[in-house]
Amino acid sequence: MYPWLEQDYQQLAAIHQQGRLHHGLLLVGHQGLGKHELAKELARLLLCQQPQQGKACRICKSCLLEEAGSHPDYHWLESENQVGIDLIRGASNKLAGTAQMSGHKVLVIDNAHRMTDAAANALLKTLEEPTAKTHILLLADSIDAMLPTIISRCHKLVLTPPAQDLLENWLGQYQLQPESRIVRLYGHAPLALKALLETPPELNFTQVLEELKALDAGQRSLAKVCDGWEKDAAQVLNWLQHWLLERCQQKPEPVIFSLYSQTLEGVKNLSVNGVNKSLLLGRVIQSVLKAGLLKRS
Ligand SMILES: [Zn+2]
Repeated sequence: MYPWLEQDYQQLAAIHQQGRLHHGLLLVGHQGLGKHELAKELARLLLCQQPQQGKACRICKSCLLEEAGSHPDYHWLESENQVGIDLIRGASNKLAGTAQMSGHKVLVIDNAHRMTDAAANALLKTLEEPTAKTHILLLADSIDAMLPTIISRCHKLVLTPPAQDLLENWLGQYQLQPESRIVRLYGHAPLALKALLETPPELNFTQVLEELKALDAGQRSLAKVCDGWEKDAAQVLNWLQHWLLERCQQKPEPVIFSLYSQTLEGVKNLSVNGVNKSLLLGRVIQSVLKAGLLKRS
């Protein structure tokens, strides 16, 4: 278990040991924080036939089936895009009978924040009238878009990112020693940070800043630069956000807040189907140039 989630796991394991674990558990945390690992470890514990000291034994029949990915009472539901009603109905049906292994039944719903309203309403019934020994683990990046009725029927646990020194220690175990500005930027998503450090993106922060300065000096064409950055659009907006935050720490100005919300909006709009990423990026960068912040950096 990742060290920053150890305490959450221990707490849930203890509640389970007392037989008080809520049948609907909502784990909320940023992508790259380790929700999957926490859910898997908890599922193993719930399925294990002879758990020891709050941990799955890893040797009973149930544990071996889980390890092999063929436990009949363990269902992991995920979807690339929205989580639709058919998926939820299918999963609810699997929970309907008694457990085949005489233990608990576990359903994990990944990206639960992407459930459609119809899917969420279908799930409500299962949450309201759970079959015996059933646990539903909902994993969500945020609860903003989730139906309040779903949230209120679950025990909600908001996972917190590691403190900077804990994160640096953890990364150190992999011989990774990032600059502290990078740790600050990705501290909320340690797994994403580790992946980023192990496979650095082609485009780095310094390159982006250099190009922006060249654009500002009129030495580049905005359209051409943005075309070149199209596939890295999310990364560029991410770097921009970071740069704006740093600027804001030095000297808070209303224009920085406004630009920051533009980058946030930009990141959100990047995932809209068929969006012209180069154009979207161009609009944000134009606002940054217009604000004259680069001349002062
Ligand atoms: Zn076991």
